[in-house]
Amino acid sequence: MATEAPDTPLDFIRQTVRDDLAAGRHREIVTRFPPEPNGYLHIGHAKSICLNFGVAAEYDGRCFLRFDDTNPVREDERYTASICEDVEWLGFEWGDRLTHASDYFDRLYEQAVALIRGGLAYVDHLPAEQIREYRGTLTEPGRNSPWRDRSVDENLDLFERMLSGEFAEGECVLRARIDMAAPNINLRDPTLYRIRHAAHHRTGERWCIYPMYDFAHTLSDAFEGITHSLCTLEFEDHRPLYEWFLDSLDLPHRPRQIEFSRLNLAYTVTSKRRLAELVNRGIVDGWDDPRMPTIAGMRRRGYPPVAIREFARRVGITKKENTIEMGVLEHAVRDSLNAVAHRRLVVVRPLRVVLTNYDAGTEEFVSLPNHPGDPEQGSREVRFGRELWIDADDFMEDPPRKFHRLKPGGEVRLRGAYIIRCDEVVHDADGVVVELRCSYDPDTRSGGSGSDRKVKGTIHWVHAPSAIPVELRLYDRLLRTASPVGGDAWLEDLNPDSLQVIAEARAEPAVLDFQPGEGMQFERVGYFTRERENGADGRAVFNRTVTLRDSWAKIEAAELG
Ligand code: ATP
Ligand code: MG
Repeated sequence: MATEAPDTPLDFIRQTVRDDLAAGRHREIVTRFPPEPNGYLHIGHAKSICLNFGVAAEYDGRCFLRFDDTNPVREDERYTASICEDVEWLGFEWGDRLTHASDYFDRLYEQAVALIRGGLAYVDHLPAEQIREYRGTLTEPGRNSPWRDRSVDENLDLFERMLSGEFAEGECVLRARIDMAAPNINLRDPTLYRIRHAAHHRTGERWCIYPMYDFAHTLSDAFEGITHSLCTLEFEDHRPLYEWFLDSLDLPHRPRQIEFSRLNLAYTVTSKRRLAELVNRGIVDGWDDPRMPTIAGMRRRGYPPVAIREFARRVGITKKENTIEMGVLEHAVRDSLNAVAHRRLVVVRPLRVVLTNYDAGTEEFVSLPNHPGDPEQGSREVRFGRELWIDADDFMEDPPRKFHRLKPGGEVRLRGAYIIRCDEVVHDADGVVVELRCSYDPDTRSGGSGSDRKVKGTIHWVHAPSAIPVELRLYDRLLRTASPVGGDAWLEDLNPDSLQVIAEARAEPAVLDFQPGEGMQFERVGYFTRERENGADGRAVFNRTVTLRDSWAKIEAAELG
């Protein structure tokens, strides 16, 4: 199981867990991650997964992966599968602790009956709008439903008839009987069960009444022996209800709910509803589009799982709402890739170079390290010859004074090979530079015993006859603004340039050494991973995972204040 235990900061939740163990309140820590299977997991969920599974692992406890499948109409099997895949990929194991709220439907029903028997729940016939109206507001107390004081027997009978399908959807609900004047609106007789004549993807047609989230969630925690029920701040107001359930029922365990702040990430959205909208409107290529802040999207883009765990560690756990700069996530990605990613040579905008003094009939191999800082990662032999591609950006016909790359009459070192001089610039009929005729200095082979002559610039290149054409997909922020506005207007803030396709790049063949998901650094270009499907005419496609440097940090810091 993945764990960064030794240096995980002792946030207030870990402090509580530690205190509880020290005080003997629990012998074992039990947590849970409770996703609703109505979409793919995103970076915010990753924070919660790292917290729940992380705390359990650090304190030799257990963590449940529990699907909150109380809503029969919305759930979808493919989301369940994607959630399992994502949690596993992030590096966490649930062992035999994969559960569903629906596993407990029978026990939940029994507990609802127990509430009714205790005079703590009643069947209400008020229509939904009236229930809302009777609930009151933040400043005004609610009013009792006319059905609030019916007898236990009548309630038991009606609840059973709800179960047997006698009523239509919306005709009645089961409500807790707490206090319609409670200052906390969540305690004003919340709904416990509603009628849904819909098949459930796990329990089929067995039920036509389904428990509400608060009821199902609290009781599932108690059934599973969860010690610390960690959730986001919007549930703080629900805690009194959580505790009311625990106080009112005879349950095997008494979990404790602790809230922490949600993760918000700048220049993107972290709400399943909004992410679903991007997918449904065809704005992105599915939930795992590499621009999406979903775990599946980040995986396809080449983020290593360790980078996401490290990001979660750096962000930490607090009670303060905040928005994290994208740069923090990208920094963690860069840090983890920099150490392990093999280097490769790829030319983004190819410009032909002909070495006029290099014998056309021959070629040679130069040895390039896979990682400049780590000889252990080995080296590879790269073909070199008379015709090469360099990046068009590395040549300027009329450069400023400090330009240290290639210019007419100037010299540059080809990475791992020779120093070349640009003798002649060939233009097409429109004056566009189409070829550079250069000469190489045979005494300057990298690592050789010849001249140790130095030049200021070093550029990358590929050997033209053996290079393969590849497509590069360069990704940018999904949004143009740091924090999306409310309503539907956020769609107008989409960044129209979030995907740039470079169809005609050229790469050394060794870019094919790695599987989709494995990271490489294309020297001087960025970190990339192979896309699982090839592009036009079968050429390999590479997704840019992250740029080499953070060009956004300053802009973001300024905008976020
Ligand atoms: P969304 O708002 O994206 O629909 P959700 O909270 O409805 O998310 P759930 O599937 O119910 O999604 O979430 C499962 C768990 O993940 C919950 O415990 C929730 O608190 C946590 N979670 C969801 N979003 C975030 C976030 N942005 N930061 C931290 N934890 C989150
Ligand atoms: Mg939810």
